[in-house]
Amino acid sequence: MKILVCISHVPDTTSKINFTDNDSAFDTNGVQFVINPYDEFGLTRAMWIKEKQGGTVTVVNVGNATTEPTLRKALAIGADDAIRIDADPTDAFFVAKQISEIAKTNGYDLIITGRESIDYNGGNVPGMLAALLDWPFVNACIGMEIDGNSAKLVREIDGGKETLSGNFPMVIAGQKGLVEESDLRIPNMRGIMTARTKPLQVVPATDASKMTESVSYQKPPAKGDIKMISPDNVEELVSLLHNEAKVI
Ligand SMILES: Cc1cc2nc3c(=O)[nH]c(=O)nc-3n(C[C@H](O)[C@H](O)[C@H](O)COP(=O)(O)OP(=O)(O)OC[C@H]3O[C@@H](n4cnc5c(N)ncnc54)[C@H](O)[C@@H]3O)c2cc1C
Repeated sequence: MKILVCISHVPDTTSKINFTDNDSAFDTNGVQFVINPYDEFGLTRAMWIKEKQGGTVTVVNVGNATTEPTLRKALAIGADDAIRIDADPTDAFFVAKQISEIAKTNGYDLIITGRESIDYNGGNVPGMLAALLDWPFVNACIGMEIDGNSAKLVREIDGGKETLSGNFPMVIAGQKGLVEESDLRIPNMRGIMTARTKPLQVVPATDASKMTESVSYQKPPAKGDIKMISPDNVEELVSLLHNEAKVI
């Protein structure tokens, strides 16, 4: 099975988020970048498939040269090769279009993305990608059983689960459940060394225009001071929740 795993390069969850250019752009100064956590679940699942039934795992990112350490980390975890589509990921359609062109020429059976990226949280790329390829798509996937040319997929729905089946090639957008956090692989020294020599191909972007433009960003209001209330004083707690916080 030929698998493509889409890797988004996102700020570490502990990063302090700031904006520049009149709050119209994300300030990357001093920010540590990591593999999008949802993509790590997908990558681990792809490794399992490869180990069980053979095949290859390619990772792809749409980004400039600063994203290469993130792709190298994916190679150290176990991907066979990497593709960097050399462009700023200017909106979800642009990203999906770039990846769809790679998919059309390289004949993958399965594309695994994350359910959403934890930076812009658009959740748009996977669906757009499947639509551009005209492939089946299962979002928020938490389980997968492959049987020949088809697969049974489980996805989370409100208050339950839904099982679907579909034929390859297909796109799935994964999340926790596809594998568990305890299954994630930390690259070992051998993995890090071999990742240096694994192929990382840089390809030019396809002509595509973006469909949206970020106008400005706004941080959530700063959190107020914490008020400590004695556990015996339920009346005061209820009064503060009602009159001050106005949540009850
Ligand atoms: C310089 C710059 C300018 C930007 N300007 C805009 C703008 O004007 N308008 C706007 O809407 N957004 C803008 N963005 C955000 C950027 O477009 C997002 O990275 C992109 O839209 C995808 O984010 P998403 O939240 O929709 O991804 P999601 O759909 O939430 O991501 C889901 C999955 O898709 C895959 N994926 C997402 N991004 C990539 C990627 N780059 N490479 C490979 N796989 C990926 C991953 O598997 C990810 O888990 C800008 C980003 C940068 C760096």
